[in-house]
Amino acid sequence: TERTFSILKPDATKRNLTGAVNAVIEKAGLRIVGQRRIQMSKAQAEKFYEVHNARPFFGELVEFMTSGPVVVQVLEGENAIAKYREVMGATNPAQAAEGTIRKTFSESVGENTVHGSDSAENAKLEIAQFFQDADIA
Ligand code: ATP
Ligand code: MG
Repeated sequence: TERTFSILKPDATKRNLTGAVNAVIEKAGLRIVGQRRIQMSKAQAEKFYEVHNARPFFGELVEFMTSGPVVVQVLEGENAIAKYREVMGATNPAQAAEGTIRKTFSESVGENTVHGSDSAENAKLEIAQFFQDADIA
């Protein structure tokens, strides 16, 4: 079993989609073992998306991620990292497969509803940025 880090982004909380997205996550066999709703600071968002800091959309991305509350989560299951990326769908919702979270709920590549870790190394780092061991069970 494996853990991955997930964020329900501000477009999800704004449209009251926390429960609907969580239903897709749980239906896929992923267990929500940690969950907290927070308002990200600019510093937190910049740190989280540091790898993208040279990209043209970086400013917009940080602006969006701090535009409202997000739900940070730890998901657990067999091949959780790859499985969640599959359930999320492509970054651009226009290219996402039928039935994926982004195809179902997202309106643009910028406001694409969810984040999921892309590797075991990043999952570990990202979970540690937002969760203490005692808040995962
Ligand atoms: P995430 O890291 O959020 O799970 P991802 O791994 O599918 O998404 P990345 O390439 O890591 O995609 O991009 C990180 C985020 O930056 C995307 O989820 C999206 O919100 C934003 N983003 C990526 N490309 C663009 C773009 N061309 N225009 C605007 N925003 C973008
Ligand atoms: Mg990414």
